[in-house]
Amino acid sequence: MPSETFRTHSEEETIALGRALGVRLRGIVLLIGNLGAGKTTLTKGIVEGQGAAPADAVSSPTFTLVHQYGEDVFHVDLYRLDETREVETLGLNDLFDSGSLVILEWAERFPELMPAERTEIRIRTLADDSREIVVLAS
Ligand code: ADP
Ligand code: MG
Repeated sequence: MPSETFRTHSEEETIALGRALGVRLRGIVLLIGNLGAGKTTLTKGIVEGQGAAPADAVSSPTFTLVHQYGEDVFHVDLYRLDETREVETLGLNDLFDSGSLVILEWAERFPELMPAERTEIRIRTLADDSREIVVLAS
């Protein structure tokens, strides 16, 4: 699996990295990391990099579960769902098949629902509050 590792030292740097990644990301992207790691922050940059919306317009879909930006960028947060059948009601498969960019937080909790072909971005908080961000393409 090809991987790239980055390190960011502020929210702004994480958004800038997201912007750079967002230019080229396609398909299904799993953002993996603890609460507060920076998954939503990175998404702000990715959405902007895709040209779908400005970073400031991106907010966490924690309660609404799915946000759409432009025609075909989707941001999904599965944090509040506990059961596979709840996730199934979201119609993720249709999204996955649509050719849209689908960015998901907490999707690793439902591995059986995720396609094998995907990009994983793993975010880890380091001691000095910087972030290690590893991008793994399938
Ligand atoms: P998640 O979606 O993973 O729960 P958020 O992106 O919502 O996390 O929140 C990340 C928080 O961490 C924000 O309050 C942000 O300001 C802060 N932060 C501090 N340093 C960084 C950094 N290097 N990268 C991203 N966020 C950072
Ligand atoms: Mg989040």
